[in-house]
Amino acid sequence: MSLPTTVAGQLDALAAGHCQAADLIQAAREQGCRHADLNAWISEVEPTAPAAAENAKLGGIPYAHKDLFCTAGVRTTCGSKMLADFVPPYSATVHERLDRAGAVLMGKANMDEFGMGSSNEHSHFGAVLNPWDRQRVAGGSSGGSAALVAARVVPFATATDTGGSIRQPAAFCGVSGIKPTYGRVSRWGMVAYASSLDQGGVIAQTAEDCALVLQQMAGFDERDSTSLQAPVDDYRQALQQPLRGLRIGVAKCFFGSGVSDPVAVAVNAALAQMEAQGAVLVDIDLSHAELAIAAYYLIAPAEASSNLSRYDGVRYGYRCEQPRDLDDLYRRTRSEGFGAEVRKRILLGTYALSAGYYDAYYLRAQKVRRLIAGDYSRAFEGVDLIAGPTAPTVAFKLGEKLADPLAMYASDVNTVGVNLAGLPAMSIPCGFDQGLPIGLQLIGPALSEARLLAAAHQYQLHTGWHQQRPGTSGVPS
Ligand code: GLN
Repeated sequence: MSLPTTVAGQLDALAAGHCQAADLIQAAREQGCRHADLNAWISEVEPTAPAAAENAKLGGIPYAHKDLFCTAGVRTTCGSKMLADFVPPYSATVHERLDRAGAVLMGKANMDEFGMGSSNEHSHFGAVLNPWDRQRVAGGSSGGSAALVAARVVPFATATDTGGSIRQPAAFCGVSGIKPTYGRVSRWGMVAYASSLDQGGVIAQTAEDCALVLQQMAGFDERDSTSLQAPVDDYRQALQQPLRGLRIGVAKCFFGSGVSDPVAVAVNAALAQMEAQGAVLVDIDLSHAELAIAAYYLIAPAEASSNLSRYDGVRYGYRCEQPRDLDDLYRRTRSEGFGAEVRKRILLGTYALSAGYYDAYYLRAQKVRRLIAGDYSRAFEGVDLIAGPTAPTVAFKLGEKLADPLAMYASDVNTVGVNLAGLPAMSIPCGFDQGLPIGLQLIGPALSEARLLAAAHQYQLHTGWHQQRPGTSGVPS
């Protein structure tokens, strides 16, 4: 018997008694073995099926955590040599909540070191291969999470998004991902990259599955000082909201330089589909969008340089061999424990924050951040959602952008502004180019997760892109 691969499908099968949690766990393990070459796991765990929790909201559903959610007793590496042997003494709030909901952790997913990257090639544990074409990247930084869902190893995975790390790998791997409003999901126990931008979310096959999982993850947490107090909507119930009358803003800037023709064509076709379902398309302007990359790549490294100062070889994590003195301990621990991209960003961030340059760089970037947030607020006075391509192109080749970091950064052009403004956004599959998936990005005002999920779900009710799986659309998996 073939088991369903979605969260909703597996919950139904469990409720109907067609299978048990142990069957789903077994199937996940077997599928994981079949796709071991993707290199999507950093650590696998021996799961125990929580018999009692099978009645809970996600009871018996297998999943993966991006390897930056702290899991008590289970190694949490953040994709870094620095934390390669780190076993946290406590669990992230997100983990506690999913645990309470009965979801079954299968392992920790590969990622770019500390979340810094757009291709998963900056992982100490090696790149993740794209399940659609193993010559290509899975996207980053949540490449492992996206690849595991795309390859139908697990029905959902947690992920985080500081500048696109949920949406871009979801787009590259042909799956659905939601980055919630900043503060909607607790950051407590999530290893920090850039704290004013980091936000946890979900990658799954469908918007409906994202709704089911986000429902369990979201909510106020007093241990996270930026956590939002607002009540959590009923996301699944909201899925029924039709597209009719929904005003969708289309900004030219999202179709600008670097966006390939096939991506633009597919996204325009998706917009036409939504229009056919009753949505109203409205041209909008986000005048400071072109500054988003520059502001993001100042602010994120600046915050990272501060956050990562804790890895000094003294308290935890990697420590260099036989330090001569304290300075030598700091210097060698940090140069040996961090990879090249992380070291570069610490240097950039430290420079941008240093006396004399602070006003010229960091402060200026903060002003631009405010302008970008203002553009979005104004736009949302006239529209309910904004849509465009998630990434300018389909997944690029492994190694293609490694020698050109600016090209790698530029590929984040359509995702980073959302983080600067703290807004929720999704990526859902909307077509193919050369057999590789294309992602449609939907952006909403603060706390509009229910609206976003509903729009994505209504689109998925009428289209089949999200049902395509690697190996079935003309490209060998
Ligand atoms: N690609 C972006 C970066 O490298 C975003 C990463 C993320 O969202 N964690 O910073």
